[in-house]
Amino acid sequence: MAARATATVLAGARVVLPTGVVENGRVVVEGTRIAGAADPGTPVRDLSGHWIVPGFVDIHNHGGGGASFTSGTAEDVLKGVDTHRRHGTTTLVASTVTASMDFLTRRAGMLSELVEQGDLAGIHFEGPFISPCRKGAHSEALLLDPEPAEVRRLVDAARGTARMITLATELPGGIDSVRMLAEHGVIAAVGHTDASYEQTVEAIEAGATVATHLFNAMPGLAHRAPGPIAALLEDERVTVELINDGVHLHPAALELAFHSAGAGRVAFITDAMDAAGFGDGRYELGPLEVEVKDGVARLVEGGSIAGSTLTLDTAFRRAVTVDRLPVEDVVRAISANPARLLGAYDRIGSLEPAKDADLVVLDSDFVLQGVMRRGEWIVEPKGA
Ligand SMILES: [Zn+2]
Repeated sequence: MAARATATVLAGARVVLPTGVVENGRVVVEGTRIAGAADPGTPVRDLSGHWIVPGFVDIHNHGGGGASFTSGTAEDVLKGVDTHRRHGTTTLVASTVTASMDFLTRRAGMLSELVEQGDLAGIHFEGPFISPCRKGAHSEALLLDPEPAEVRRLVDAARGTARMITLATELPGGIDSVRMLAEHGVIAAVGHTDASYEQTVEAIEAGATVATHLFNAMPGLAHRAPGPIAALLEDERVTVELINDGVHLHPAALELAFHSAGAGRVAFITDAMDAAGFGDGRYELGPLEVEVKDGVARLVEGGSIAGSTLTLDTAFRRAVTVDRLPVEDVVRAISANPARLLGAYDRIGSLEPAKDADLVVLDSDFVLQGVMRRGEWIVEPKGA
């Protein structure tokens, strides 16, 4: 049984707030929320030598713990969610992969129930409206042009829980679909795209605000053909997703993106598949077969990288210890920025009074020691 922290003061830790790092800081938890002050006599938990950071927010995640968000039962989906929670992700948007429209609309109905229950923060549809030239681990036979009526079918099937749809905006209907999504409050994400720089600028002007795993599944940055990467990095309105697993991106590419966009416009994502938090072996990604070896997921046929086995605690640690990014910037990329994208920053994404008590406790080496979600320990710190 997880212990419910009715009222607790977490004290002595380095606490990362929007204003910076507070040494010997305190976080007061009351019920499911963070409180401004504690009543006298409230139990104090000493977390000295630790960091307390906001719970992580993953807006692009296909599964974990051996379970897929595209094909598993509701129970499987919850198992995947729980696996990522244990790695610090207190808010998770479930991503689907390309499948038939009938399958995806049914899937949207099932996932939307889990959103309504509060287990998921929304649905991200990745495919089928993507480019056959940049399909990555999506099945080509099922790809469609992003005609607004078709895209709209997914939005409707999700009954208000569609948060993001990845589109190759250069395909027929792409720009109209971006406009339609923006009008419905659904994030239009540019990705799995073969667009030019100019075509990407047009998509941003139409309302696209996210780059789906920048660099991956799009043309590279070339000096006479700067492509989508330059357009997405330069525009203040766009947040770029980065998969910081050391496999999808060279550290120098991550640094380029981070410094070009700035810490306020980066969202760390996992793009995780079933094997995250589970192990090597054979898996299915939609209709395709994937082999995971040494934590790297590749299609059995063709060898494309097929999602990651990343969890966000690993992305956090890597960002601080390998990429040498300031902790405050990592917190923005992993919690605050994605929370803002979801329109949920009033409730999550920082450790401020009245927000949900969603937090992660890390030791001095940035290894995860504790996870609290809505005031309840999912992973209780030991010996602290
Ligand atoms: Zn993905």
